[in-house]
Amino acid sequence: MRKYEKTVREEETLREVICNQCGKKLKVEDGIVKEGCFQAEYAFDYFSEKDGYIYSFDLCERCFDLWIKEFQYPVRIREVKEFM
Ligand SMILES: [Zn+2]
Repeated sequence: MRKYEKTVREEETLREVICNQCGKKLKVEDGIVKEGCFQAEYAFDYFSEKDGYIYSFDLCERCFDLWIKEFQYPVRIREVKEFM
């Protein structure tokens, strides 16, 4: 015989996204970002001086455009053929 008790399950819902560069509060509705946002999370590996650290940040679309404009070589841009 088994007896179960109800437990309260904690779920995380995205509430707020702020651009790390300019501080703009991005539009978030029902846990979904409703405007252009570049989300990055990168774990540096053994060969890096940052080994063992995970860097993460968000950029609004304007700050993303300004950032990549500073690159010496343009970023590679491809068209998405199929949307999931
Ligand atoms: Zn920004």
